[in-house]
Amino acid sequence: MYCPFCNEADTRVIDSRLSSDGHQVRRRRECPRCNERFSSFETADLGLPRVIKRDNTRSTFDQEKLRAGMLKALEKRPISSEQVDSVMLRLVKRLRSSGEREISSRQLGEWVMEELSELDPVAYVRFASVYRSFEDIQAFNQTVEQLKQHHFSDKKSTHETENKK
Ligand SMILES: [Zn+2]
Repeated sequence: MYCPFCNEADTRVIDSRLSSDGHQVRRRRECPRCNERFSSFETADLGLPRVIKRDNTRSTFDQEKLRAGMLKALEKRPISSEQVDSVMLRLVKRLRSSGEREISSRQLGEWVMEELSELDPVAYVRFASVYRSFEDIQAFNQTVEQLKQHHFSDKKSTHETENKK
């Protein structure tokens, strides 16, 4: 943490203590350059980042909406609710640990697609065709083609899939 007095980049922590309610850490710091002392406070930031939409408007992250979108892609697919739950948990955890205050809907969509490509190829293609704006039909066909290959080699042997990459 920078020294607020002289802007020295490296300050030393000389004392750390937890606040009485246990939700905040107070640190006493000392600047090795100007010897000033100051306190910093650390709290866990559990807020989820806001989502920047394509038209540049911002909205709060809507977990239910995302879940609904995934369920739609997973319609009539052999995926259990528990599997969907664990994907949602991973996505929320990823959002939280990103530490970003805002995240683009495109990035979020990519993460969902990463998850779906592991979970179910059909759901992945369905979701991708809605979520991603395939600039040209060729890119879309390539994706489908890659999935087919992946799927077929999966059936033969999982080791072979690794070697082909
Ligand atoms: Zn200083």
